[in-house]
Amino acid sequence: MADFKVTELAEDLDFDSLPYWDVVIIGAGPAGLAASLTTAHRGLTTLVIEAKDKPGGQPQFLYPDKKIVDIPGFPDGISGEELSERTYRQAVDALVQFRFNDELVTIEDTDQLEKEDLLKRVVTKNGEYLCRKVVIACGLLHFPRKLPVVDALDSKNVYYKVPKIGDYENGHVVVVGGGDSAFDAAVMALERRGQVDVIVRGESPAAKADTVARVQQSGGRVHCTTEITSAEYDAGAMALTLSSGMQIRADTVIVQIGFLSAKETFQRLDVRLNDDGSIAVDPYFETSRHGLFAVGDVHGDIKLVTVAWAEGIQAAIYAFKEITSPYWLNEKRLRDQKISMIGDKITQAARVKGRKK
Ligand SMILES: Cc1cc2nc3c(=O)[nH]c(=O)nc-3n(C[C@H](O)[C@H](O)[C@H](O)COP(=O)(O)OP(=O)(O)OC[C@H]3O[C@@H](n4cnc5c(N)ncnc54)[C@H](O)[C@@H]3O)c2cc1C
Repeated sequence: MADFKVTELAEDLDFDSLPYWDVVIIGAGPAGLAASLTTAHRGLTTLVIEAKDKPGGQPQFLYPDKKIVDIPGFPDGISGEELSERTYRQAVDALVQFRFNDELVTIEDTDQLEKEDLLKRVVTKNGEYLCRKVVIACGLLHFPRKLPVVDALDSKNVYYKVPKIGDYENGHVVVVGGGDSAFDAAVMALERRGQVDVIVRGESPAAKADTVARVQQSGGRVHCTTEITSAEYDAGAMALTLSSGMQIRADTVIVQIGFLSAKETFQRLDVRLNDDGSIAVDPYFETSRHGLFAVGDVHGDIKLVTVAWAEGIQAAIYAFKEITSPYWLNEKRLRDQKISMIGDKITQAARVKGRKK
């Protein structure tokens, strides 16, 4: 138990009878949890809508056992599951309210004016919530891309996330994919004395060079320019045929070939999108719609837990400033050098491009 208390919300506040929420946050991943405890610590009533049955986002659902080693302050690493549980506990202690198993459908504008804010209506699968500000932190959505050739086996040993350790210890593991997630999964399997083959469609892996080297040094075999062409059951294991003609037996197949885009949800929100389908934000994480912020993987070029945290915290503080002092952001924008610097850089870049032609 902390020996100081930051939240200003009353312990006995009746959240069920609030006429509206100060802030509604979509997604209880790293970005949403960090944003939520920041607004609640500043005395704002905060509701988090989460599609899954528990909090944590990708670290909780995609790599619960992996030791995350790039978070400052955790020199020995921390598992995705523990990190998620700790952050969630901090949010609950700050009196953040959660609705699990619910999903954002759309966000409507209303003409209901509250303290200089036109309230927004967040429409979800199970209800509707009026609020002053919304933070979109719903990440990539957890719809991993399927690999039809192994999916057709309908096997419980084909995973689209990094499985729990006990599920594959000592077995022969085939990992499909060339990115960081695939090679992280290969390292984990090798650490559990598994034999590992990594199947990479491209000419070379896109994963970090040191992780690829670690896989190879630990005895993992990396097959580039290769795909699985057929898969069948054979005496309790899976028999895979590769495009090179090689045959591999696998106890476990881990497929890490990316995610389907969350574009459809984003389009329903009527916010401006970047060319790659992610949500466009200004330097204050506000989207093209006033009062609607977007943080974490939904817009970010750098997809990391710490970046998601930092963005969630910043957006939460900008939302707080706007609630306590309306038009604060617009006044800041008028004075701020950041905005004019972006304009200058674009003009310079266009000039250089023009000269090259
Ligand atoms: C295999 C793998 C390994 C990784 N390893 C590392 C690492 O070692 N270090 C690191 O820093 N980063 C790592 N990352 C990246 C990191 O996990 C992400 O950058 C981070 O989780 C992004 O946080 P987020 O809150 O933006 O999104 P997410 O973690 O995706 O959370 C979004 C949440 O929103 C919910 N949601 C989605 N849609 C809706 C909806 N419509 N309504 C309600 N809720 C919704 C989701 O269920 C989810 O809980 C890794 C990623 C992967 C896939």
